[in-house]
Amino acid sequence: MDVRTYDEIANNWALWAEYVDPGANMTEPEFNSMTTQEKIAAMIEMWGEEYYLLTCGACADETMLDAQEYQEAKDSHWLLQCANCHMISTDWAVESGN
Ligand SMILES: [Zn+2]
Repeated sequence: MDVRTYDEIANNWALWAEYVDPGANMTEPEFNSMTTQEKIAAMIEMWGEEYYLLTCGACADETMLDAQEYQEAKDSHWLLQCANCHMISTDWAVESGN
């Protein structure tokens, strides 16, 4: 699961340069002078609210998570119950909605 969260990008200059600022309009000191909240706000302005799409490995039902739900799912090591087939598993395909 190689999905970048806004929080990860906001705290990593290399990710920021790759995903947010490929034209290199910002320097690393400028990046460091911004707060995480400012950087996340800039990403929401560019890409819209952060959300993630999870696909159940058993029934292929899709669930949408916001940033906080995504973090909670990650913290639980993806042990989630599918709302559709009620399987409790870690077999989820995750992609960024942005
Ligand atoms: Zn399911």
